[in-house]
Amino acid sequence: MRSRLELSIAVFVVSAALVSADSPALVTVVKAGRLLDPRTGNVLSPAAVLIDHGTIKEVGAPSRVQADAPAGAQIIDLGSATLLPGLIDSHTHLLIDVIAPPEAEITRLYNGRFIPGLLLAIVAMSPGERVLLGAQLAREDLESGFTTVRNLGFSGVDGDVALRNAINAGRVPGPRILASGRKLTAPGGYFQRLNPAVAEPIVQQEFLEIGSPEAARQAVRTNVFYNVDLIKVAIEDDITQAETTAIVDEAHRQHLKVAIHAATPTSIQMAIDAGADSIEHGNGATDEELKQMRDKGIFLDLTPTFYGGRATKILEETIVLSPAFRSALASSDDKARQRYDGLVQRVLRSGVKWAAGSDMCWFSPGRSRGQATAKVFTSLHDAGVPPLDVLRALTTNAAGLLGWQDRVGAVEPGAFADLVAVAGDPIADITELERVRFVMKDGQVIRNDVGPR
Ligand SMILES: [Zn+2]
Repeated sequence: MRSRLELSIAVFVVSAALVSADSPALVTVVKAGRLLDPRTGNVLSPAAVLIDHGTIKEVGAPSRVQADAPAGAQIIDLGSATLLPGLIDSHTHLLIDVIAPPEAEITRLYNGRFIPGLLLAIVAMSPGERVLLGAQLAREDLESGFTTVRNLGFSGVDGDVALRNAINAGRVPGPRILASGRKLTAPGGYFQRLNPAVAEPIVQQEFLEIGSPEAARQAVRTNVFYNVDLIKVAIEDDITQAETTAIVDEAHRQHLKVAIHAATPTSIQMAIDAGADSIEHGNGATDEELKQMRDKGIFLDLTPTFYGGRATKILEETIVLSPAFRSALASSDDKARQRYDGLVQRVLRSGVKWAAGSDMCWFSPGRSRGQATAKVFTSLHDAGVPPLDVLRALTTNAAGLLGWQDRVGAVEPGAFADLVAVAGDPIADITELERVRFVMKDGQVIRNDVGPR
């Protein structure tokens, strides 16, 4: 007798076959003037990609690929456009859209720019409303070319897992999501100054607090129960080495990677010593720490979220700023820019493996989430990253960071058919990534604005 699991697998296979029978194009050939391989920097021109049931089968000259395609294959001709692999955002927050608080709130003695808006976003929306917000932001990311993202917290108890499952089941459009569930933090973590009488349920909805190595292991297991893809930890200098090491050890025992938010030299060293898989932000990394990360194969996930005064721009577009506050922001933006330019140069020199994440969690007036996210990445070029390395950060390197190098981040046989196209040459003008014209995920066309030829 077959087990219930086998039966449910059989039902799934049958229903998947029915869905496929309805799909118009199981075999597709996408043709374009150029195909840029970010890993090698090579350009194939002209190029064609043969796609069968959502997987790339062949990449080559159009004449050869079309000869290998079966009769009746759908042909999509993108003219002179440049094809690239679908883009990967290694660090985002799809279930939150923080609105900048007014200046008087920001300049209060406590809680700064982010926390007042974060609190409202958490307490003024139900978990269900946040998942639906996530569905909107996921679709907006996908429409801008982000076909894979890692969601690293601020998703309620399991909202990112639910969103991932709904996207995978085809119920809502969105990128492939690697979901981390709740962030692990030290007690107090993000919210230092909440009213203790109401704090607990707010904190518990977003965070798993760790006060001992055993609690750290338990927090990992709790996230495993919710079926997460990886573990996210946020540490400042408020956690012990034993706790950090316990998290990584338990997660690795469960075959999950660990992404550790660390920005100070002390916390970065702790993450390195614990054997983290990636260090998120890493702004305060010393040259010695970058060298240790390189030697241990730990990825740095750069997040140029606010590079070039973007936080100030968001505030300007959202709230009224006094002249004094505006000039204080401008001078701190200048210093932050110089520091970031220095970090980027040291990272490039160090040889550490690195990718990039938008860390996008702000409401950005007049822009979709995908448009706001793309701008964060092109600003890496302003910070001194060569265009090909920006592309690698969003494709080849990000796929390595995810451990998904066999399925995303490359236009190669065997990979998922996740493609984007831009009209111009992204090496000559990296801001082409802000104007993605064509998006395909899993062999399905999400948008095609290449226009008539
Ligand atoms: Zn983040």
